[in-house]
Amino acid sequence: MKLLHFVNNGWQEGTGEPVILHNPVNGEKIAEAYGDGVDIASALEYARKTGNLTLRNMGYASRAALLSSIVDVLAANRERYYEIALQNSGNTKTDAALDVDGGIGTLKYYSSLSKGLNDECYISESGSDRLSRDENFQGIHINTPLTGVAVHINAFNFPSWGLWEKAAVALLSGVPVFVKPATSTALLSYEMLRDVIDADILPPGAISMICGGGRDLMEHVQSNDCIAFTGSAETALFLKSQPNVIKSNVRFNVEADSLNSSILGPDVNPESPVFDHFINEIIREMTVKAGQKCTAIRRIMVPENQIDNVAAAVSEKLKEIKVGNPANAEVTMGPIVTQQQQQTVVEGIKKLCSDNVSIVFGDQPLDLIDADEQGYFISPTLLRCDAATDSDLVHELEVFGPVSTLMPYKSTEQLLDLVTRGGGSLVASVFTADDDFAKDIAPKLGSSHGRILIVDDVIAKSHGGHGVVMPQSIHGGPGRAGGGQELGALRALDFYHQRTAVQANINRLDNIREASCVQ
Ligand code: NAP
Repeated sequence: MKLLHFVNNGWQEGTGEPVILHNPVNGEKIAEAYGDGVDIASALEYARKTGNLTLRNMGYASRAALLSSIVDVLAANRERYYEIALQNSGNTKTDAALDVDGGIGTLKYYSSLSKGLNDECYISESGSDRLSRDENFQGIHINTPLTGVAVHINAFNFPSWGLWEKAAVALLSGVPVFVKPATSTALLSYEMLRDVIDADILPPGAISMICGGGRDLMEHVQSNDCIAFTGSAETALFLKSQPNVIKSNVRFNVEADSLNSSILGPDVNPESPVFDHFINEIIREMTVKAGQKCTAIRRIMVPENQIDNVAAAVSEKLKEIKVGNPANAEVTMGPIVTQQQQQTVVEGIKKLCSDNVSIVFGDQPLDLIDADEQGYFISPTLLRCDAATDSDLVHELEVFGPVSTLMPYKSTEQLLDLVTRGGGSLVASVFTADDDFAKDIAPKLGSSHGRILIVDDVIAKSHGGHGVVMPQSIHGGPGRAGGGQELGALRALDFYHQRTAVQANINRLDNIREASCVQ
């Protein structure tokens, strides 16, 4: 099967050397993408001229209705998408739900947010600022949609959620989307877009997609465009330092990799219910999507006197994980998505083991279900680093698979030192029944994290999960996590709007405010 590009409101065949998409369960070829042959400059211009104008004239409420219509189309095809997620990403049902339903759920959430938003711009702050002795002279800030195109470059591990969590916000804002899914798993993004295009619900130019290629994208972006990138820090650096991006000051949001921590509070021991919640969360994070989540727990920090208990409890549960072909309902963990990544994970484990790290669980031969070594499988692997203060690699190397490292801490001070050596992370979770510890640790973790989840027995069943990104809360972290920010309800709209200070007679400001909306 040949993936096509959707540009200038039509499907177009690519040219050049194909990139082959594989089934990671058995290595079989399932599709091919031809990245050359698209005139990117004119495709972007079409989106800017046709898509942006139409979307902006529609207003927020009508654009929110578009999101609802997309939800209807995608929800009707959900089961087929699960099947594609299995074929192209080796997803179990749980993995596929996170990606497919996560995408649909985010669209649905943003379709409900237009209430009270004005047609041309919005005001998110109440009140005005007095600017001089004369109280008539005051200032407010208005947000108006960008007039360009939103270029979205996505990572391989969330072909559905990655596509829709970004598109939902851009489209609600009135900015057309030009998306480049990661080629290795582009089939799901492609099929979803095909269904939406066939349903004829989007105006021309609202969405474009290239499958493969796009290497010259950065040469053609303009100052009224924006770029939202998800992927490795290395690619992010390369793309955002392209001369045209710098020269035109194009907005650039980066969601990159990170070494997220999960922390067991000093108050918790195996008798406490919080201990079990902690162990279950580690297992979930290590095995869902075979650990290929940017938010997965990479470092497990526990009080020194609990490290043996935690190592034993995690190992015991990992023995129950059934690795193999997710088409078999018994299987609880599928393969790594590509052969190259499988290799990188194996090498990553070796590298970590050369720097004060040992294997607690994962070096035994794999007992695969309905699969063999043709597939890209890895055992869930628990590592242990007793001298975590002396090791750099364990805080720097993201092994993007079912791999997590356990390390002890002696004091809150040492704990914070270990956590921050990750250089900035997307998320940290803290498992504690001690209110004082929770109150103390949350602000201390704040400056190095985009999100903090604090779990006690009360929310043990209701919390979303360490690795689950929810549209109500922001996603993105400082430093090596990319320094970006997505989602977080209406906060996400900022990236697609220009904020402008309007200084005038207070009566005029009131008129403007009346025509806009205060959230
Ligand atoms: P990647 O290799 O950096 O690729 C990311 C995207 O960039 C892909 O669409 C890729 O396209 C594209 N790309 C690469 N070089 C390009 C170029 N020269 N011009 C234009 N586009 C280019 O990352 P990945 O392997 O897909 O993703 C894994 C990483 O993403 C992990 O480190 C993970 O932590 C991170 N991640 C972060 C988040 C987050 O929200 N923070 C979410 C998911 C993943 P091709 O596929 O065509 O090469």
